Amino acid sequence: MKEVILIKNGEIALKGLNRSTFEEILIKNLKKRLNGSGRFKISRAQSTIYCEPFDESCDLDEAAEKISKVFGIAAFTRACVAEKDWNDIKSKAVPYLKDVLEDAKTFKVEAKRSDKNFSMKSPEICMEMGGELLEAYPHLSVDVHNPDVTVIIEIRDFGAYIHAKQENGAGGIPVGSGGRAALLTSGGIDSPVAGWMMAKRGLEITAIHFAAPPYTSERAKLKVITLCEKMSEYCGRIKLIVVPFTEIQENIREKCPEEYFTIIMRRYMMKIAEKIAQNEKCKALITGESLGQVASQTLGALACTDVACEMPVLRPLIGMDKEEIIRISRKIDTFETSILPYEDCCTVFTPRHPKTKPRLNDVLHAEEAFDASEMIETCVNNVEVINIG
Ligand code: ATP
Ligand code: MG
Repeated sequence: MKEVILIKNGEIALKGLNRSTFEEILIKNLKKRLNGSGRFKISRAQSTIYCEPFDESCDLDEAAEKISKVFGIAAFTRACVAEKDWNDIKSKAVPYLKDVLEDAKTFKVEAKRSDKNFSMKSPEICMEMGGELLEAYPHLSVDVHNPDVTVIIEIRDFGAYIHAKQENGAGGIPVGSGGRAALLTSGGIDSPVAGWMMAKRGLEITAIHFAAPPYTSERAKLKVITLCEKMSEYCGRIKLIVVPFTEIQENIREKCPEEYFTIIMRRYMMKIAEKIAQNEKCKALITGESLGQVASQTLGALACTDVACEMPVLRPLIGMDKEEIIRISRKIDTFETSILPYEDCCTVFTPRHPKTKPRLNDVLHAEEAFDASEMIETCVNNVEVINIG
Protein backbone atom coordinates (compact mmCIF):
# COMPACT_ATOMS: atom_id res chain seq x y z
CA MET A 1 0.00 0.00 0.00
CA LYS A 2 1.51 3.32 -1.04
CA GLU A 3 1.86 5.86 1.73
CA VAL A 4 2.84 9.53 1.42
CA ILE A 5 3.08 12.53 3.71
CA LEU A 6 0.80 15.47 2.95
CA ILE A 7 2.01 18.81 4.24
CA LYS A 8 -0.10 21.92 4.76
CA ASN A 9 1.71 25.25 4.56
CA GLY A 10 1.48 27.48 7.56
CA GLU A 11 1.54 31.24 7.53
CA ILE A 12 3.05 31.13 4.03
CA ALA A 13 -0.49 31.15 2.77
CA LEU A 14 -0.75 34.78 3.86
CA LYS A 15 2.21 36.02 1.87
CA GLY A 16 0.44 36.99 -1.36
CA LEU A 17 2.81 37.33 -4.29
CA ASN A 18 5.74 36.03 -2.25
CA ARG A 19 3.93 32.83 -1.60
CA SER A 20 5.64 30.83 -4.28
CA THR A 21 9.10 32.01 -3.15
CA PHE A 22 8.25 30.92 0.39
CA GLU A 23 7.02 27.55 -0.85
CA GLU A 24 10.19 27.04 -2.87
CA ILE A 25 12.31 27.73 0.20
CA LEU A 26 10.17 25.36 2.25
CA ILE A 27 10.56 22.61 -0.35
CA LYS A 28 14.32 23.17 -0.49
CA ASN A 29 14.49 22.95 3.31
CA LEU A 30 12.42 19.76 3.31
CA LYS A 31 14.70 18.15 0.73
CA LYS A 32 17.79 18.98 2.78
CA ARG A 33 16.23 17.85 6.02
CA LEU A 34 14.99 14.50 4.65
CA ASN A 35 18.43 13.70 3.33
CA GLY A 36 19.50 10.48 5.01
CA SER A 37 15.99 9.10 5.47
CA GLY A 38 15.69 7.71 1.91
CA ARG A 39 14.80 9.19 -1.48
CA PHE A 40 11.64 11.28 -1.53
CA LYS A 41 9.92 13.17 -4.32
CA ILE A 42 8.72 16.49 -2.96
CA SER A 43 6.25 18.47 -5.03
CA ARG A 44 3.38 20.87 -4.57
CA ALA A 45 -0.14 21.06 -5.90
CA GLN A 46 -3.44 22.45 -4.66
CA SER A 47 -1.88 24.22 -1.65
CA THR A 48 -0.41 20.97 -0.37
CA ILE A 49 3.16 19.73 -0.45
CA TYR A 50 3.42 16.05 -1.30
CA CYS A 51 6.26 14.02 0.08
CA GLU A 52 6.35 10.68 -1.75
CA PRO A 53 8.85 7.91 -1.10
CA PHE A 54 10.61 6.65 -4.25
CA ASP A 55 11.09 3.14 -2.90
CA GLU A 56 10.90 0.82 0.11
CA SER A 57 14.14 2.13 1.59
CA CYS A 58 12.42 5.32 2.75
CA ASP A 59 11.89 5.59 6.47
CA LEU A 60 8.50 7.29 6.83
CA ASP A 61 8.59 7.36 10.65
CA GLU A 62 11.92 9.16 10.59
CA ALA A 63 10.73 11.48 7.81
CA ALA A 64 7.59 12.42 9.77
CA GLU A 65 9.71 13.14 12.86
CA LYS A 66 11.99 15.40 10.80
CA ILE A 67 9.06 17.15 9.10
CA SER A 68 7.58 17.97 12.52
CA LYS A 69 10.64 20.20 13.09
CA VAL A 70 10.57 22.12 9.81
CA PHE A 71 9.33 25.70 10.17
CA GLY A 72 6.66 26.92 7.76
CA ILE A 73 4.37 23.92 8.21
CA ALA A 74 0.96 24.21 9.88
CA ALA A 75 0.04 20.53 9.82
CA PHE A 76 1.02 17.26 8.19
CA THR A 77 -0.39 13.81 7.91
CA ARG A 78 0.58 10.39 6.63
CA ALA A 79 -1.91 9.25 4.02
CA CYS A 80 -2.64 6.15 1.97
CA VAL A 81 -2.84 6.71 -1.79
CA ALA A 82 -5.64 5.10 -3.80
CA GLU A 83 -6.94 5.28 -7.35
CA LYS A 84 -9.83 7.66 -7.86
CA ASP A 85 -12.09 4.66 -7.90
CA TRP A 86 -14.52 3.90 -5.09
CA ASN A 87 -13.68 0.18 -4.93
CA ASP A 88 -9.97 0.92 -4.64
CA ILE A 89 -10.58 3.61 -2.01
CA LYS A 90 -12.71 1.44 0.25
CA SER A 91 -10.58 -1.67 -0.10
CA LYS A 92 -7.50 0.32 0.94
CA ALA A 93 -9.16 2.41 3.66
CA VAL A 94 -10.29 -0.56 5.75
CA PRO A 95 -6.84 -2.14 6.33
CA TYR A 96 -4.95 1.19 6.33
CA LEU A 97 -7.01 2.60 9.19
CA LYS A 98 -6.88 -0.60 11.28
CA ASP A 99 -4.43 0.56 13.99
CA VAL A 100 -6.05 3.91 14.60
CA LEU A 101 -9.63 2.61 14.52
CA GLU A 102 -8.98 -0.40 16.74
CA ASP A 103 -7.88 1.99 19.51
CA ALA A 104 -10.93 4.25 19.07
CA LYS A 105 -14.54 4.04 20.23
CA THR A 106 -16.07 6.71 18.02
CA PHE A 107 -15.29 8.17 14.61
CA LYS A 108 -16.62 10.29 11.80
CA VAL A 109 -15.75 10.59 8.11
CA GLU A 110 -15.06 13.86 6.28
CA ALA A 111 -14.71 14.11 2.51
CA LYS A 112 -12.79 16.77 0.61
CA ARG A 113 -13.53 16.64 -3.06
CA SER A 114 -11.31 19.08 -4.91
CA ASP A 115 -11.79 17.08 -8.12
CA LYS A 116 -15.37 17.99 -8.85
CA ASN A 117 -15.55 15.40 -11.62
CA PHE A 118 -15.47 12.53 -9.17
CA SER A 119 -18.74 10.64 -9.50
CA MET A 120 -19.71 10.68 -5.79
CA LYS A 121 -20.46 13.87 -3.88
CA SER A 122 -19.00 14.51 -0.43
CA PRO A 123 -22.04 13.47 1.69
CA GLU A 124 -22.26 10.23 -0.25
CA ILE A 125 -18.54 9.50 0.24
CA CYS A 126 -18.95 10.06 3.99
CA MET A 127 -21.99 7.83 4.24
CA GLU A 128 -20.57 5.00 2.17
CA MET A 129 -17.20 5.06 3.92
CA GLY A 130 -18.88 5.26 7.33
CA GLY A 131 -20.86 2.13 6.46
CA GLU A 132 -17.74 0.25 5.28
CA LEU A 133 -15.82 1.08 8.44
CA LEU A 134 -18.72 0.20 10.78
CA GLU A 135 -18.99 -3.16 9.08
CA ALA A 136 -15.25 -3.84 9.32
CA TYR A 137 -14.90 -2.52 12.90
CA PRO A 138 -18.22 -3.25 14.63
CA HIS A 139 -17.00 -1.99 18.03
CA LEU A 140 -17.10 1.58 16.62
CA SER A 141 -19.93 4.05 16.65
CA VAL A 142 -20.32 7.32 14.78
CA ASP A 143 -20.02 10.63 16.65
CA VAL A 144 -20.08 13.65 14.38
CA HIS A 145 -19.54 16.18 17.21
CA ASN A 146 -16.65 14.85 19.26
CA PRO A 147 -15.20 11.74 17.61
CA ASP A 148 -12.02 9.98 18.82
CA VAL A 149 -10.91 9.73 15.18
CA THR A 150 -11.78 11.78 12.11
CA VAL A 151 -11.20 9.83 8.91
CA ILE A 152 -10.56 12.09 5.93
CA ILE A 153 -11.03 11.06 2.32
CA GLU A 154 -9.55 13.56 -0.12
CA ILE A 155 -10.29 13.30 -3.82
CA ARG A 156 -7.57 15.37 -5.48
CA ASP A 157 -6.40 15.92 -9.06
CA PHE A 158 -3.90 13.07 -9.12
CA GLY A 159 -5.40 10.54 -6.77
CA ALA A 160 -7.41 9.79 -3.66
CA TYR A 161 -5.90 10.06 -0.19
CA ILE A 162 -7.07 8.44 3.01
CA HIS A 163 -5.86 9.60 6.39
CA ALA A 164 -6.87 9.94 10.02
CA LYS A 165 -4.00 11.32 12.05
CA GLN A 166 -3.20 14.92 11.22
CA GLU A 167 -0.39 16.33 13.38
CA ASN A 168 0.54 19.91 14.14
CA GLY A 169 3.60 21.23 12.32
CA ALA A 170 6.27 23.44 13.88
CA GLY A 171 4.51 26.61 12.63
CA GLY A 172 6.43 29.77 11.76
CA ILE A 173 7.85 30.60 8.34
CA PRO A 174 10.58 28.76 6.40
CA VAL A 175 14.16 29.17 7.60
CA GLY A 176 16.02 31.33 5.09
CA SER A 177 13.01 33.35 3.96
CA GLY A 178 14.01 36.23 6.25
CA GLY A 179 17.78 36.33 5.75
CA ARG A 180 20.56 35.44 8.16
CA ALA A 181 21.47 36.56 11.67
CA ALA A 182 24.25 35.74 14.12
CA LEU A 183 23.24 34.12 17.40
CA LEU A 184 25.53 34.78 20.35
CA THR A 185 25.55 31.26 21.66
CA SER A 186 26.60 30.45 25.19
CA GLY A 187 26.29 27.01 26.72
CA GLY A 188 23.29 28.14 28.74
CA ILE A 189 19.55 27.61 28.53
CA ASP A 190 18.59 30.90 26.92
CA SER A 191 20.58 31.32 23.74
CA PRO A 192 19.47 28.06 22.01
CA VAL A 193 15.85 29.03 22.72
CA ALA A 194 16.50 32.50 21.28
CA GLY A 195 17.97 30.91 18.13
CA TRP A 196 15.02 28.56 17.79
CA MET A 197 12.58 31.46 18.10
CA MET A 198 14.24 33.55 15.41
CA ALA A 199 14.67 30.55 13.07
CA LYS A 200 10.93 30.07 13.49
CA ARG A 201 10.50 33.57 12.09
CA GLY A 202 12.49 32.65 8.99
CA LEU A 203 16.09 33.52 9.89
CA GLU A 204 19.07 31.35 9.06
CA ILE A 205 21.41 31.12 12.03
CA THR A 206 25.16 31.55 12.26
CA ALA A 207 26.31 30.77 15.81
CA ILE A 208 29.09 32.76 17.50
CA HIS A 209 30.59 31.38 20.70
CA PHE A 210 33.17 33.14 22.85
CA ALA A 211 35.62 30.79 24.50
CA ALA A 212 38.32 31.72 27.00
CA PRO A 213 40.75 28.83 27.27
CA PRO A 214 42.26 27.76 29.61
CA TYR A 215 39.58 29.29 31.87
CA THR A 216 36.94 27.54 29.78
CA SER A 217 37.50 23.91 28.84
CA GLU A 218 37.23 21.84 25.68
CA ARG A 219 34.19 20.18 27.28
CA ALA A 220 32.43 23.56 27.44
CA LYS A 221 33.01 23.96 23.69
CA LEU A 222 31.75 20.44 22.99
CA LYS A 223 28.61 21.33 24.92
CA VAL A 224 28.02 24.29 22.58
CA ILE A 225 28.56 21.99 19.59
CA THR A 226 25.93 19.59 20.97
CA LEU A 227 23.51 22.49 21.48
CA CYS A 228 24.04 23.62 17.88
CA GLU A 229 23.42 20.05 16.68
CA LYS A 230 20.12 20.01 18.54
CA MET A 231 19.18 23.46 17.24
CA SER A 232 20.03 22.41 13.69
CA GLU A 233 17.17 19.89 13.72
CA TYR A 234 14.94 22.98 13.56
CA CYS A 235 17.24 25.66 12.16
CA GLY A 236 18.97 23.62 9.45
CA ARG A 237 22.70 23.82 8.88
CA ILE A 238 24.57 26.00 11.38
CA LYS A 239 28.04 27.44 10.99
CA LEU A 240 29.50 27.70 14.50
CA ILE A 241 32.25 30.27 14.89
CA VAL A 242 34.32 29.98 18.06
CA VAL A 243 36.10 33.19 19.07
CA PRO A 244 39.27 33.14 21.22
CA PHE A 245 38.33 35.70 23.87
CA THR A 246 40.94 35.11 26.60
CA GLU A 247 43.23 38.08 25.94
CA ILE A 248 40.43 40.64 26.09
CA GLN A 249 38.97 39.09 29.23
CA GLU A 250 42.34 39.11 30.99
CA ASN A 251 42.84 42.76 30.09
CA ILE A 252 39.40 43.65 31.40
CA ARG A 253 40.13 41.81 34.64
CA GLU A 254 43.51 43.46 35.12
CA LYS A 255 42.71 46.98 34.02
CA CYS A 256 39.02 47.79 34.47
CA PRO A 257 37.05 48.38 37.70
CA GLU A 258 35.54 45.12 38.88
CA GLU A 259 31.96 46.37 39.00
CA TYR A 260 32.10 46.94 35.21
CA PHE A 261 33.72 43.61 34.22
CA THR A 262 30.58 42.00 32.83
CA ILE A 263 29.18 45.02 31.05
CA ILE A 264 32.51 45.80 29.34
CA MET A 265 32.97 42.17 28.41
CA ARG A 266 29.50 42.09 26.89
CA ARG A 267 30.20 45.26 24.92
CA TYR A 268 33.32 43.64 23.44
CA MET A 269 31.31 40.55 22.61
CA MET A 270 28.86 42.67 20.65
CA LYS A 271 31.62 44.56 18.83
CA ILE A 272 33.41 41.37 17.80
CA ALA A 273 30.18 39.57 16.94
CA GLU A 274 29.15 42.49 14.72
CA LYS A 275 32.40 42.32 12.74
CA ILE A 276 32.08 38.57 12.27
CA ALA A 277 28.39 38.92 11.42
CA GLN A 278 29.22 41.44 8.68
CA ASN A 279 31.77 39.02 7.19
CA GLU A 280 29.14 36.27 7.29
CA LYS A 281 26.43 38.39 5.61
CA CYS A 282 24.29 38.48 8.72
CA LYS A 283 21.87 41.38 9.06
CA ALA A 284 21.37 41.27 12.85
CA LEU A 285 22.67 39.84 16.10
CA ILE A 286 20.51 37.64 18.35
CA THR A 287 21.03 37.19 22.08
CA GLY A 288 19.23 35.22 24.78
CA GLU A 289 18.86 38.22 27.07
CA SER A 290 15.74 38.60 29.17
CA LEU A 291 14.93 41.82 31.00
CA GLY A 292 16.01 41.78 34.63
CA GLN A 293 17.30 38.18 34.56
CA VAL A 294 20.78 39.14 35.78
CA ALA A 295 22.66 42.38 36.51
CA SER A 296 23.86 42.69 32.91
CA GLN A 297 20.27 42.52 31.65
CA THR A 298 18.69 45.50 33.41
CA LEU A 299 17.40 48.21 31.12
CA GLY A 300 20.39 50.40 31.97
CA ALA A 301 22.87 47.60 31.27
CA LEU A 302 21.17 46.65 28.02
CA ALA A 303 21.32 50.28 26.91
CA CYS A 304 25.10 50.24 27.44
CA THR A 305 25.48 46.96 25.51
CA ASP A 306 23.17 48.06 22.72
CA VAL A 307 25.26 51.07 21.71
CA ALA A 308 28.39 48.94 21.36
CA CYS A 309 27.27 47.90 17.88
CA GLU A 310 25.25 49.37 15.05
CA MET A 311 23.53 46.25 13.82
CA PRO A 312 20.03 45.56 15.10
CA VAL A 313 20.12 43.28 18.14
CA LEU A 314 17.19 40.88 18.36
CA ARG A 315 16.32 39.70 21.87
CA PRO A 316 13.37 37.35 21.45
CA LEU A 317 13.35 36.33 25.13
CA ILE A 318 13.24 39.89 26.45
CA GLY A 319 9.78 39.60 28.00
CA MET A 320 9.84 35.93 28.97
CA ASP A 321 10.13 34.35 32.41
CA LYS A 322 12.78 31.69 33.00
CA GLU A 323 10.02 29.08 33.40
CA GLU A 324 8.65 29.89 29.95
CA ILE A 325 12.13 29.71 28.45
CA ILE A 326 12.78 26.37 30.15
CA ARG A 327 9.52 24.98 28.79
CA ILE A 328 10.70 25.68 25.23
CA SER A 329 14.20 24.37 25.92
CA ARG A 330 12.69 21.07 27.09
CA LYS A 331 10.49 20.93 24.01
CA ILE A 332 13.44 21.42 21.66
CA ASP A 333 15.56 19.05 23.76
CA THR A 334 18.36 21.47 24.61
CA PHE A 335 17.59 21.73 28.34
CA GLU A 336 19.48 18.65 29.57
CA THR A 337 22.60 19.70 27.67
CA SER A 338 22.31 23.34 28.75
CA ILE A 339 22.30 22.47 32.45
CA LEU A 340 25.54 20.45 32.28
CA PRO A 341 27.77 22.32 34.72
CA TYR A 342 30.60 23.52 32.48
CA GLU A 343 32.00 27.00 32.86
CA ASP A 344 31.22 29.82 30.40
CA CYS A 345 33.47 32.78 29.71
CA CYS A 346 30.76 34.99 31.24
CA THR A 347 31.02 33.18 34.55
CA VAL A 348 34.81 33.05 34.74
CA PHE A 349 35.45 36.59 35.97
CA THR A 350 32.11 37.48 37.53
CA PRO A 351 32.27 40.62 39.66
CA ARG A 352 31.09 40.33 43.27
CA HIS A 353 28.95 43.47 43.00
CA PRO A 354 28.12 44.21 39.37
CA LYS A 355 26.62 47.62 38.58
CA THR A 356 22.92 47.18 37.94
CA LYS A 357 22.41 50.81 36.89
CA PRO A 358 25.55 51.57 34.91
CA ARG A 359 25.87 54.99 33.29
CA LEU A 360 27.19 54.84 29.75
CA ASN A 361 29.74 57.61 30.37
CA ASP A 362 31.19 55.73 33.33
CA VAL A 363 31.36 52.53 31.31
CA LEU A 364 33.08 54.29 28.40
CA HIS A 365 35.52 55.84 30.84
CA ALA A 366 36.26 52.47 32.46
CA GLU A 367 36.74 50.95 29.02
CA GLU A 368 39.51 53.45 28.22
CA ALA A 369 41.80 51.53 30.59
CA PHE A 370 43.22 49.68 27.58
CA ASP A 371 43.12 49.86 23.79
CA ALA A 372 41.43 46.72 22.48
CA SER A 373 41.35 47.49 18.76
CA GLU A 374 44.21 45.13 17.86
CA MET A 375 42.91 42.43 20.18
CA ILE A 376 39.51 42.67 18.48
CA GLU A 377 41.17 42.18 15.07
CA THR A 378 43.10 39.20 16.47
CA CYS A 379 39.84 37.67 17.72
CA VAL A 380 38.10 38.13 14.38
CA ASN A 381 41.06 36.72 12.44
CA ASN A 382 41.63 33.66 14.61
CA VAL A 383 38.22 32.09 14.89
CA GLU A 384 37.62 28.36 14.63
CA VAL A 385 34.82 27.33 12.26
CA ILE A 386 32.74 24.21 12.82
CA ASN A 387 29.97 23.27 10.36
CA ILE A 388 27.02 21.56 11.97
CA GLY A 389 24.04 19.71 10.50
P1 ATP B 1 22.30 31.68 28.61
O1 ATP B 1 21.45 30.58 29.03
O2 ATP B 1 21.92 32.26 27.33
O3 ATP B 1 23.79 31.40 28.72
P2 ATP B 1 22.77 33.39 30.83
O4 ATP B 1 21.75 33.74 31.81
O5 ATP B 1 23.95 32.61 31.16
O6 ATP B 1 21.97 32.79 29.64
P3 ATP B 1 24.27 35.70 30.19
O7 ATP B 1 25.53 35.05 30.61
O8 ATP B 1 23.81 36.88 30.89
O9 ATP B 1 23.10 34.68 30.08
O10 ATP B 1 24.37 36.03 28.67
C1 ATP B 1 23.33 36.66 27.99
C2 ATP B 1 23.46 36.38 26.53
O11 ATP B 1 24.76 36.71 26.07
C3 ATP B 1 23.32 34.91 26.18
O12 ATP B 1 21.97 34.53 26.03
C4 ATP B 1 24.07 34.84 24.89
O13 ATP B 1 23.29 35.31 23.80
C5 ATP B 1 25.22 35.79 25.12
N1 ATP B 1 26.39 35.06 25.63
C6 ATP B 1 26.74 34.84 26.91
N2 ATP B 1 27.89 34.12 26.99
C7 ATP B 1 28.28 33.89 25.72
C8 ATP B 1 29.38 33.21 25.11
N3 ATP B 1 30.31 32.60 25.82
N4 ATP B 1 29.45 33.18 23.78
C9 ATP B 1 28.51 33.80 23.02
N5 ATP B 1 27.46 34.44 23.53
C10 ATP B 1 27.33 34.50 24.86
MG1 MG C 1 20.40 34.44 30.10
